Amino acid sequence: MTPSAKSVPIFASDASRFVKEYYAALSKSDVAAVLLKFAESVSYSDRPRDHAFIEKDLRDYVTRWPVLNLKPEAVAVSPKDDGSTVITFDLIYSVANERNKKSLSGHSTNTWIVQRVRGEIQIVSQRELVHPNPVPAVEKTPRRQSHEDEEALSDEELKKQGDTQIEIPTAQSTSKPSVTPAAKSAPKNVAPSGFVIALDIGHSPLRGGAVSARGVFEYEFNRRLVAELFAQLQSLGFARSFVINPQGDEIRLPQRSAKANEQNADLLLAIHHDSVKDKYLKTWQTNGKTQKYCDDFHGYSIFISNKNVKAADSRLFATKLGQALLKAGFTPTLHHVDQENRPIIDKEKGIYTFDDLVVLKTAKMPAVLLECGVIVNRAEEEKLNSPAYRKLLIDAIVRAIQDFSSIGNRNN
Ligand SMILES: [Zn+2]
Repeated sequence: MTPSAKSVPIFASDASRFVKEYYAALSKSDVAAVLLKFAESVSYSDRPRDHAFIEKDLRDYVTRWPVLNLKPEAVAVSPKDDGSTVITFDLIYSVANERNKKSLSGHSTNTWIVQRVRGEIQIVSQRELVHPNPVPAVEKTPRRQSHEDEEALSDEELKKQGDTQIEIPTAQSTSKPSVTPAAKSAPKNVAPSGFVIALDIGHSPLRGGAVSARGVFEYEFNRRLVAELFAQLQSLGFARSFVINPQGDEIRLPQRSAKANEQNADLLLAIHHDSVKDKYLKTWQTNGKTQKYCDDFHGYSIFISNKNVKAADSRLFATKLGQALLKAGFTPTLHHVDQENRPIIDKEKGIYTFDDLVVLKTAKMPAVLLECGVIVNRAEEEKLNSPAYRKLLIDAIVRAIQDFSSIGNRNN
């Protein structure tokens, strides 16, 4: 027992930060940073091990799984009599290797013993009990055309999932032009505070969607953009707008629109980032790893569902969104036509129909899905990582929302 171990207790907040930093470093394959968190001698899976052993073990792990999604949860601490502290937590993991198409997911129960050495927390014992998911659900489903097909289910498939409480709205004919709010009602100029936007972060930490040219899951791009868009909407007075699944819980697709329906949202906007079909992907080396990319396609795309009960309004918002993006200098990508036979209804603005996208078709308000850009394109991924570029994108989205909300779309 060292005096410092006794004088500076390790609180739950310290432990939580420590565990998060550990997995953030590991997710980036930063083995050196992870190694710093271990004491000189460690009980590692109940065996005494030194740094050399642990380093090799960690390097093997990040080589085996270049794509790591590691989410610690429910971090708890309990101090021991000898001055050390026991940290327990669950780890939700999904790991993948694009090269051999292997992936694993599940959760693990973790028990670490840590102590303070010269003020720094260090691991003296680490034990993990892994509970893998039986068979990855993704592999059970037949191979789909694109990553976004995971987001689509036919009405029958949707009913089979047992969502009896979720009614699938019957499609309205989109050939009824008279239902557009602009034509039907006089502009009402809804104040931003009265207009509710539900923002959906595409995919989840465990089912991350597409993988970027630098090996980052689409979910990370979606989450970041939604957070920034949400902040911008709040600052402009859209005070009742909300993010559907901010914690990234594993909720099923119909539950996403159900949340928007419950809160009577006026508009649902799902944020995604795009990929291309596998056969167009090439490999390159980046950060010491082999990744897949395709520089041949770039740009945004907009999707609506004709099965949405407000299909005409969805189309109206999609048009405004396309106009705003074009005006800001963005260009649409048309590759979904050739690669997935997706019907395109407005080539100039990059608007497609994808009727069975679950979130769109089960929403009771106008709903649009935006693919912000192609993240397997190396240059476009870099742009999307630039705050200035995202600001341009978000400003354009916000202008479309302001325009749409001001024409009296509410409750008609
Ligand atoms: Zn997506």
